[in-house]
Amino acid sequence: MSHSTKRAYKIVFAALCCIAPVLPVVAGGDQPATVDSQTFLQRNMTPAGPPASEFSAKVEQLLRKMTLKEKIGQMTQLEIGMVTDGADQDIQIDPAKLHKAVVEYGVGSILNVNLQALAAQKWQELIRAIQNEAQRTRLKIPVLYGLDSIHGANYVLGATLFPQPLGMAATWNPELMLQDSRISAAETRKAGVPWVFSPVLDVGRQPLWPRLYETFGEDTYLATVMGIATVRGFEGTDLSSDTSVAASLKHYVGYSDPTNGGDRSPALIPERDLRDYYLPSFAAAVRAGAHSVMVNSSEVNGIPGHANKYLLTNVLRDELGFRGFVVSDWGDIKNLVLVHHVAPTEKDATQIAVLAGIDMSMVPSSYSFSDLLFQLAQEGKVPMSRVDEAVRNILTVKYQLGLFDDPMRGVNAPTVIGSPSSRRVSLQAARESITLLKNEEHVLPLSKGTRVLVTGPDADSLIPLDNGWSYTWQGSVASLYPKDEPTILGAIQEKIGLANVAYVPGTTFDKEIDIDGAAKAAANFDAIVACIGEWSYAETPGNIGDLALPGAQLALVRKLEATNKPVILVLTEGRPRIIRTIAGGARGILMAYNPGNEGGQAIADILFGDVNPSGKLPVTYPRWPNRLFTYDHKYFLGQDAPEGKVLATPEFEFGYGLSYTTFSYSDLRVSPSTASGRQTIRVSVNVRNTGPREGREVVELYLSKRFASVTPPLKRLKRFAKIDLQPGQEQRVSFVLAPYDLSFIGVDNKRVIEPGAFDVHVGGLTQSFEWQ
Ligand code: BGC
Repeated sequence: MSHSTKRAYKIVFAALCCIAPVLPVVAGGDQPATVDSQTFLQRNMTPAGPPASEFSAKVEQLLRKMTLKEKIGQMTQLEIGMVTDGADQDIQIDPAKLHKAVVEYGVGSILNVNLQALAAQKWQELIRAIQNEAQRTRLKIPVLYGLDSIHGANYVLGATLFPQPLGMAATWNPELMLQDSRISAAETRKAGVPWVFSPVLDVGRQPLWPRLYETFGEDTYLATVMGIATVRGFEGTDLSSDTSVAASLKHYVGYSDPTNGGDRSPALIPERDLRDYYLPSFAAAVRAGAHSVMVNSSEVNGIPGHANKYLLTNVLRDELGFRGFVVSDWGDIKNLVLVHHVAPTEKDATQIAVLAGIDMSMVPSSYSFSDLLFQLAQEGKVPMSRVDEAVRNILTVKYQLGLFDDPMRGVNAPTVIGSPSSRRVSLQAARESITLLKNEEHVLPLSKGTRVLVTGPDADSLIPLDNGWSYTWQGSVASLYPKDEPTILGAIQEKIGLANVAYVPGTTFDKEIDIDGAAKAAANFDAIVACIGEWSYAETPGNIGDLALPGAQLALVRKLEATNKPVILVLTEGRPRIIRTIAGGARGILMAYNPGNEGGQAIADILFGDVNPSGKLPVTYPRWPNRLFTYDHKYFLGQDAPEGKVLATPEFEFGYGLSYTTFSYSDLRVSPSTASGRQTIRVSVNVRNTGPREGREVVELYLSKRFASVTPPLKRLKRFAKIDLQPGQEQRVSFVLAPYDLSFIGVDNKRVIEPGAFDVHVGGLTQSFEWQ
């Protein structure tokens, strides 16, 4: 054992989860004080009321009255097709099906859309019929309806759609995330739905993974801050209010790093990494009071998420102190037989999952779970105490949501679905998310007199702006998208006039249409805006075998670059598709992620300089398809050699993003220079706007430990703050680091702080301190 390990002192993981003392950012001049990431976090950690204890007597009373069948009903969640007929907009309640589900089986929860989003009023009608049926049951327990509101109330027609979470992370502005999720909550509850399957707190460290855009990117701390903003926005201070919904933290845990990059594919994550990188976002959100957790459909280290008693009970309940209820993911108890092969029959699978800690099964299209669990409980193979515990967890949340008082709470709230003010928040979020990655010779912003050729498959559709979870699961039904939101092309035409714009698509997402035609058209224009990237996808259908952008799009851009007209790439994509062969020839590159319904406008605002970009990458943008790594990777041999550098340099770094102005950093100070015990470290730096226009800068603080008993990563993000600066203005920004920030998961998988030298990096400057 090394000297430093012996002297290391251990910290109980749960006790220290991730919160450091209060940390002001000191504002200079007459600037309003900016809130840094940690202050934001602390302000938003208080769980929503009412507390569970307020209802424990009622819950126990109800439990005592319930039959086994009624209890198992509460643990059952079915999809909407189990109580309706018809599809799309013609969906109707089927009274016989509804009776079977709600009265005979007493199901506790229903979820999802039948293929398409519905108007709020239609949702209200359906859910009212479901709740009325529940009133016909012996105990009149309301049904808990749940929907995936991933980037707004995306299954409510006309709702405000925001940038997907990856874009929200690129804003580095948790205040915006808070506003976004408040609006999403209010618009969801207005439809009669009190529960959302969001936020995705899986840290997105595998860029191939088709759910990357649902995450807040690759960094644990950024994901934690944005995740807490989401939980607070959804749950507010009072879960029973007209505008709050219960959050579901998903997909607990380790779902996001499949070895082969595919959705629902096995992950190998050492417990040390699980605790250091994947667990903290969940741990923080549990502390912030989130009321439900959804489980990882896949497996980690050979144990499927739904069979993992260690993670679901020992860690989530006993260690992190989670008190809400745990819901399975779609069909995942059956999948213990069908996919994972850990149980020979569905009955065995049901026993394994319920004993592991699943409270509610998203079955979702049969009664098998209810029937099998009934048998298991009668045979004593699942103890009544476990059933009672699960039902207690579920009923408590129904009480906390106010459903027993009014199962339709929220439908009479003054919330206006998709109001102009909500759309303005979405526009602001899109503007702050878009990340300027290249701006050679200041090609951007374009002047409004520029004649522009717009090309590429993503130029004239809202589908790639929104991606999956938009009106339908895959987001691909164009007729459901609003007619009054401009595409990128529409917004450019609006901005500089129809006469100055031509549009030649050149390719579809993956096939050539007329590349030569696009290149020929370029001759008559001053600049080319190539709108490339991905189309829409969600979950497994979004699996890819190659992270490179499809060949047709690469060929289009290469041909355009050969015209010698300035080419500006606008990337609308849910994950960083490799652009190595075209990035060098492009004069400007804008990463827009999936910016939502206001994205066309926001992109045009940035292209033509009405908005100064301030987004920063929340993921590493890889250069090589087979050299994938996150910014916080470990040291490796040869990385400093010239050829090593080429391979170890991504296309663009995590945290990178340009502005139309410039910022300089000076006078980084770290004090004290030696510290120990419970001491905190104060870090401060001057940031000056040295360019010609007002701008927003994200001040990012990274920490490196020079030597440790477990190989240390190059650096890790510990704090950030987004500040506004006028030209010439300077601000001193301060952060405080707590002992927790110095810790890592040690050799025995416990959180430790080891003494030694630390380097603090902010804006290209480095200062050190010694921990004793
Ligand atoms: C997804 C979940 C989602 C659920 C309900 C599953 O396939 O993995 O993220 O919440 O479906 O739509």
